Amino acid sequence: MTKANVRARAGRSAGAEAVHSEPAAGEELARQLDQTLSELDSLEKRLLAIADAIPGRVTFSTSLGLEDQAVLHGIAATERTFDVFTLDTGRHFPETLETLDASELRYGLKVRVVFPDAADVELLVARDGIMGFRQSIEARKACCEVRKVRPLNKALAGAAGWITGLRRDQSSGRAHVPFATWDGEHQLVKLNPIADWSLEKLEAYIEEHAVPVNPLHARGFPSIGCQPCTRAIRPGEDIRAGRWWWENEDGKECGLHNRPKPKEAHA
Ligand code: SF4
Repeated sequence: MTKANVRARAGRSAGAEAVHSEPAAGEELARQLDQTLSELDSLEKRLLAIADAIPGRVTFSTSLGLEDQAVLHGIAATERTFDVFTLDTGRHFPETLETLDASELRYGLKVRVVFPDAADVELLVARDGIMGFRQSIEARKACCEVRKVRPLNKALAGAAGWITGLRRDQSSGRAHVPFATWDGEHQLVKLNPIADWSLEKLEAYIEEHAVPVNPLHARGFPSIGCQPCTRAIRPGEDIRAGRWWWENEDGKECGLHNRPKPKEAHA
């Protein structure tokens, strides 16, 4: 694999200013990209189309899961400039951090590691306790807010495009994920270049390219988040059943990705 031209870039470019100051232009760009990506047959072509179309910093948030490792491989293959970052919540499995290190070595790139605000974490733990997220859904969401959502907002600030590894068949809540949509909250175009991939297609891509993956996947963890909030699943269970398993299905998102409704989906 050729060393990828991937680096962390901060600040707001002139192109990003145009997208931010004219949301209507951003919405139109998202509509066009949604159509374009649906007509392209490979991840690499879709990423190149994104790089060509977005006027400003295009950022990719990776959780180092299977989907994001595939997207990272695709990004490296394009040899184009993307800003790659991950959120370190302070509660990750050691295997997740090893996967981060292995990925940087494999692709010759640096992933920007974004941490939560230390004072916010101290206040949260002082109020709810070190495992307070198990007390209630509200307490769990407060922990995700401090350790994930606020750092995400900080990492996305100034970006014009945000690439994710969301897939429609990951869960019922993601069934209508479009290829591209205007994200009014973050004022950028949100891009999901493997939205239409099945699990079989994802696994075949990873095997074909020998993409480094978290060893926990082989131990029954299809979806990996923070260590105290993730368990292995049993055969036949939904692939996200191991996330916040003490909660019912409807509330199981951490706030990083709002659920698109059917009428909002372009695809
Ligand atoms: S997944 Fe669990 S430990 Fe991680 S931020 Fe959310 S509640 Fe906190």
